Amino acid sequence: MAKNLFQKIADGEIPADIIYSDDEIVAFKDINPQAPFHALIIPRKPIPTILDVQPEDSLLIGRMFQIANKLARDYGYDENGFRLVINCKEYGGQDVYHLHLHLLAGRKMTWPPG
Ligand code: AMP
Repeated sequence: MAKNLFQKIADGEIPADIIYSDDEIVAFKDINPQAPFHALIIPRKPIPTILDVQPEDSLLIGRMFQIANKLARDYGYDENGFRLVINCKEYGGQDVYHLHLHLLAGRKMTWPPG
């Protein structure tokens, strides 16, 4: 099956500002940042949406959040806080159908989201 955009980024076939990488997970800066710091944390495994997560993916999903925590601390956003977002399908505002966790930081977020 053809690789999606984020698989190509994870495999180094499309350039991105990669800030974390291991054998399961990659994180890179969002090309259209919605905050002073905006990164995407993705599994290398092509899971289209959060609805497609299987019980055997539980550790992987947990690791995505651990890496979000690590990045938030590494970049100094742990004191003031930050926001983690997963958009799901059309009404959730999902554009790329490869599971990704948005890490937004560096400004005070508003609620409710748009
Ligand atoms: P979502 O709307 O939740 O699917 O988020 C997709 C995100 O991917 C958006 O915030 C886009 O700005 C971002 N994006 C799309 N193409 C790229 C790219 N080539 N490199 C980095 N981020 C991208």
